Amino acid sequence: MKVCQGISVWGYRMRVLKFGGSCLDTPDDYKRLVSIVKRYTDGVDTGQAEQVVVVVSAAKGITDTIGTSLERIVTEGDDSLVNQLVFTVRDRYYALIDGTLEGSYVDEAKLDAEEVLTRMERLLYGILLTEELTPRTKDMALSFGERISAKLAAVALEANGSKGQAVEADKAGLVTDGEFGNASADAEENRGEFKTNITSIIDEGSVPVVTGFFGADEKGHVTTFGRGGSDYSAALIAAILEAESLDIWKDVAGFMSVDPKIISDAKVLETLSYLEAAELAYFGAKVIHPRTVEPVRPYCIPIRIRNAFDPASKGSVIIEDCQLHSNVIKSVAYSTEVAVLKVHGAAVGFKKGVLNKLTGAMMDNGINIKSVITSQTCITFLLEQQDLERSKEAINGINTPVVERLEALSDIALVGIVGEGIVRTEGLAARAFTSVADKGVNVLMISAGASSAAYYFVVSGSDIEKVIEAVHTEFFVVTGADR
Ligand code: ASP
Ligand code: MG
Repeated sequence: MKVCQGISVWGYRMRVLKFGGSCLDTPDDYKRLVSIVKRYTDGVDTGQAEQVVVVVSAAKGITDTIGTSLERIVTEGDDSLVNQLVFTVRDRYYALIDGTLEGSYVDEAKLDAEEVLTRMERLLYGILLTEELTPRTKDMALSFGERISAKLAAVALEANGSKGQAVEADKAGLVTDGEFGNASADAEENRGEFKTNITSIIDEGSVPVVTGFFGADEKGHVTTFGRGGSDYSAALIAAILEAESLDIWKDVAGFMSVDPKIISDAKVLETLSYLEAAELAYFGAKVIHPRTVEPVRPYCIPIRIRNAFDPASKGSVIIEDCQLHSNVIKSVAYSTEVAVLKVHGAAVGFKKGVLNKLTGAMMDNGINIKSVITSQTCITFLLEQQDLERSKEAINGINTPVVERLEALSDIALVGIVGEGIVRTEGLAARAFTSVADKGVNVLMISAGASSAAYYFVVSGSDIEKVIEAVHTEFFVVTGADR
């Protein structure tokens, strides 16, 4: 059953705000965070003071930097790499601190950063000495960027006269299911310790600034929600707290009808359904992480995408039900970061258990399969581009005599046409594919029916602009007859 609570739970408006790495790149970004928080606490948008909980990512690029260095530390075993990494992270945050803060706040933030850096350095030496990077130590190591970021943001709030308190999600008792590198967590289960900790900070009149991206398993081991997972964290925290909304502050205006780089009159979508947003995220619209919808949907907490560079603009709102767009189709999205792996063999579609073996091998290697289509002589996997080589290795590494040959297509693009009701409305698929065929483009793979809100197809990467233009013209350039 869906319960929409929000305001009734708190007696005042309580919102969760999320700031991701792309909005935490420069001192101005941290200052912007502070002024956005103030918009809420001053009640600029609603005329009423609002309470907020802030969730932050690491500063832009930090998690990547830690990740790449970790690999080198284990493979090269050189202790100067540990020093280098600590130095790089310190340097980056010190520059942010110096640019964001003044006077004693600088010292305070640097002390906070040092405390985290010391923990990081110890762990890195552990990894170096044992020459072993386990999923557990890796998750722990990846978490340090968020910890410093939260502390910096909290001091920045303080410096601006608002009270801020950094919260390390694992220490505050955010419990996950324990799957390293790809954890999930349950909102209901976190309404005890974690919620109490956050609530008591709010009750003291402070703004909690929580680290995104990770929690801890039942034994207290840090588990991350996967790369880009701080959107998921923020959604989870909004669900735990039964917030009025989850506001994701971005460097874009919202979800768009089409990529503005290809079509200049792309429009911001004012409202989308959870399903549409999830599909668009899946197809590569990098506005939210595909898992963001999951935690908030059962509580019908709206997700609002807001533009940090234009805070007065409305952005996009994601809710359960929203009016059907006049054309049913709301947006055309695409991703070029995909690849196709075809597994050929005369009997692959016929022989029992082949698909199971292949997907098992891929799963063992941590590969996410985006889609699979099978026929008698070929099993076709749609994958993330970055997983292609490892997928080939995984399949080559198992003994499946029916597999005759692998064929990889990497210069391809995945196009998604998204809108609630797409599958229920006659003739849309035909219109989409005719518009593409009219441009002389060959469609390599099609999927319809897997989702009630999306069709997708795969084309050659070099055709992508033509395809987007064709589909956009077909559905968005109103001719009068369509209305
Ligand atoms: N910092 C983490 C990452 O880069 C989490 C996030 O930014 O969402 O993956
Ligand atoms: Mg990020």
